[in-house]
Amino acid sequence: LASARLADSKSDFPGLLTADGKAWHYLDTAATAQKPQAVIDAMARALGQDYATVHRGVYSRSAEMTLAYEAARRRTADFIGGKEEEIVFARGATEAINLVAATWGAANIGEGDRILLSALEHHSNIVPWQMLAEKVGAHIDICPLTSDHQIDLDAAEVMLTERHKLVALAHVSNVLGSVLDAKRAAGLAHGVGAKLLLDGCQAAPRLKLDVAPLDCDFYVFSAHKLYGPTAIGALWARSEILNAMPPYQGGGAMIDRVTFDKTTYAPAPQRFEAGTPAITEAVALHAAIDYVDAIGMDVIHARETALVAQLRDALSPMNDVTIYGPADSAGIVSFMLDGVHPHDLGTILDEANVAIRAGHHCAQPLMDYLGVPATARASFGLYSDESDVEALLDGIVRTRKIFA
Ligand code: PMP
Repeated sequence: LASARLADSKSDFPGLLTADGKAWHYLDTAATAQKPQAVIDAMARALGQDYATVHRGVYSRSAEMTLAYEAARRRTADFIGGKEEEIVFARGATEAINLVAATWGAANIGEGDRILLSALEHHSNIVPWQMLAEKVGAHIDICPLTSDHQIDLDAAEVMLTERHKLVALAHVSNVLGSVLDAKRAAGLAHGVGAKLLLDGCQAAPRLKLDVAPLDCDFYVFSAHKLYGPTAIGALWARSEILNAMPPYQGGGAMIDRVTFDKTTYAPAPQRFEAGTPAITEAVALHAAIDYVDAIGMDVIHARETALVAQLRDALSPMNDVTIYGPADSAGIVSFMLDGVHPHDLGTILDEANVAIRAGHHCAQPLMDYLGVPATARASFGLYSDESDVEALLDGIVRTRKIFA
């Protein structure tokens, strides 16, 4: 049943057609995923007949919306194997990482302490730590990659010291698709008394998640990469860590009692959700999780893995193509066509209704590490199929002819 759902899935996504009704070969799901009609409908209902604020109204519509908002939190917790009181809704992974840096980081990382990142991190998992390090006088260390572009945990083991308070790594690389051995990373971090933050932006839509066996301390992801809406994402952290963290932004909904003399704060997760939250987005995220769960993350992963293999097998024999990332990449293939800037390739592909990403993918230090200014990146989603890979390969042949 799940694979039948997957086979039909393209028709669930109105965004996969061009304005004139042709197939759009969308290979930029790592940037943001297209939305199934079920998510669009859920969001429209929440903005329409069900709309009201949460946590404040005494009237029944608001009480119902509060139940729906909290049900979304429960569903999100369940999706990654956490508890509902451990889920903080933020604007996305970027805000979630900034929240951890500004609260837990400022309270626990001081002068002379160290933070370990890796060479393949997204700017969202670099810049917030640089800002914190600069403020408190901490140092950042960069874990190198193996020859097949995985985070080199053997090197991390050698680099980690008792001064390291945090290890923050991508669970899946947005450029290379490399999958981290998160359990080993957790063991290494905890071995020196550091916490592990996993950036799950690219993992949440591709891998079956369970934070308990991963043994991480913080996990973040964005709904819009998981077939849900923009402007909402989740931070998961262990209860004891969350409850010990100072608040992030101040305002309504995050307080216990306010007087001009002193304000006390609500317990987590409300303490970290100041202001009117992303109500309709939470409801739509719930619908997105229902949608992917009905197909099954294992089915989605198998589909994307097969498409990665199809694309890599076709590109590998081409002498003028360099592929980056490991063979078992999760749903993402970065490459370069000799003599063609990735932007030119992207522009020519666009004429054939093929959408890829070309650029630094918000990972400029990784581009420096690889020694390239940019790469072309094809990334798959649950709706991707062989026709999308074939359209990309046809486009590469056409581009080569134009540049010959
Ligand atoms: N980390 C990774 C690995 C990502 O792929 C992205 C989005 N490209 C982010 C962080 C940032 O996510 P957002 O822009 O949704 O906050």
